[in-house]
Amino acid sequence: MRLFECGTLVPGCEWHTRAEEDAEVIRRAVEHLRDTHGEQVIRETVVDNIKARIRDEGSAEAA
Ligand SMILES: [Zn+2]
Repeated sequence: MRLFECGTLVPGCEWHTRAEEDAEVIRRAVEHLRDTHGEQVIRETVVDNIKARIRDEGSAEAA
């Protein structure tokens, strides 16, 4: 699973999401930023920031 914690981008926010694919994590994160943090326009740099903060969760992933 891939995990994104909003607190790594917006200090103090405890929202997080996990999904099988980065694309889905990014989609949900963008939605969250729009709905919760009032980001009207999600810039490419924001997407890059999300990507940079997505990490692997768990060790069940096959190498
Ligand atoms: Zn947040």
